Amino acid sequence: LGMPSVPVKLAERRASRQIQVGSVAVGGDAPVSVQSMTTTRTSDIGATLQQIAELTASGCQIVRVAVPTQDDADALKVIARKSQIPVIADIHFQPKYVFAAIDAGCAAVRVNPGNIKKFDDQVKEIARAASQTGTPIRIGVNAGSLDKRLLAKYGKATPEALVESALWECSLFEEHGFRDIKISVKHNDPVVMVNAYRQLAAQCDYPLHLGVTEAGPAFQGTIKSAVAFGALLSEGIGDTIRVSLSAPPVEEVKVGAQILESLGLRERGLEIVSCPSCGRAQVDVYKLAEEVTAGLTGMDVPLRVAVMGCVVNGPGEAREADLGVASGNGKGQIFVKGEVIKTVPESKIVETLIDEAMKIAEQLEKEGTPS
Ligand code: SF4
Repeated sequence: LGMPSVPVKLAERRASRQIQVGSVAVGGDAPVSVQSMTTTRTSDIGATLQQIAELTASGCQIVRVAVPTQDDADALKVIARKSQIPVIADIHFQPKYVFAAIDAGCAAVRVNPGNIKKFDDQVKEIARAASQTGTPIRIGVNAGSLDKRLLAKYGKATPEALVESALWECSLFEEHGFRDIKISVKHNDPVVMVNAYRQLAAQCDYPLHLGVTEAGPAFQGTIKSAVAFGALLSEGIGDTIRVSLSAPPVEEVKVGAQILESLGLRERGLEIVSCPSCGRAQVDVYKLAEEVTAGLTGMDVPLRVAVMGCVVNGPGEAREADLGVASGNGKGQIFVKGEVIKTVPESKIVETLIDEAMKIAEQLEKEGTPS
């Protein structure tokens, strides 16, 4: 019967309802979006807007702000109005801030069913207020703050417990005809998290916000998120992502964007294909790759640049890229679109690559390729 076929594409995207978080559609056939959360005091409007501007510049599409106090709730109106990207208010414990966030014009509100007491009773009013303004609600279940009833039932935050908590909360909103919902079921263990989202995906058609909670410092958090999101997105599960790192939020956005680019779910921007180097290398590949990356960072064009240490794989990879160099004997063969256009001394490799990248970028701009 021959060899089993190897899938070359990711699975079909799961069919989900589409909601509108301000100007950003989430779910359905909308591109998977990247979001992050500010680390400033929300009540410090200037600092929060400044951080939102930095996040926007780094490619963040939706931003969430914490609302633990009345001062924070009071700041929402100005922040929601002045932010360049949709603002989601993150509410724990205090239903009254949900109303404040809806009134303030936030693009959505995140509630945590695990720790909003008396919440069940107020769902009707929240559903009415949110319906009137077209404000979606994210039901954000978190392993660390799971509903006590479910913790008692399951003993710990199992995938089943996380999913049951989310769907229970959804059912309360559904009783009032409210379905403008997205869901997250976060856990710090990628395996539990992946299983929770798989179960959730099978049991509802709401769009899903992916997250590994408390993923850790940058290195560990990046790996955990990439592994978990990669598993789910490759199965077609996930409509918006947030990478949680104990690092500045701009880093979260960069990692999120890179995950989507790696999976081909977002057009690739600048991609450096550099070899790991080995005993055959005839140039300092790490230094060369770093210098090329530094020289090209900020160019807003899809460009694949190969930096190869020797002539073994070098010419092959360099030919596959838009632009590349294969080094050897103190020189670099510069490739553009598969053709060797020149050979330059090692000291001129970086500037030649940057020059050629600029030419390609100008050409793309003339052709009107969307960046
Ligand atoms: Fe080694 Fe050459 Fe491959 Fe780089 S391209 S890893 S130097 S064989």
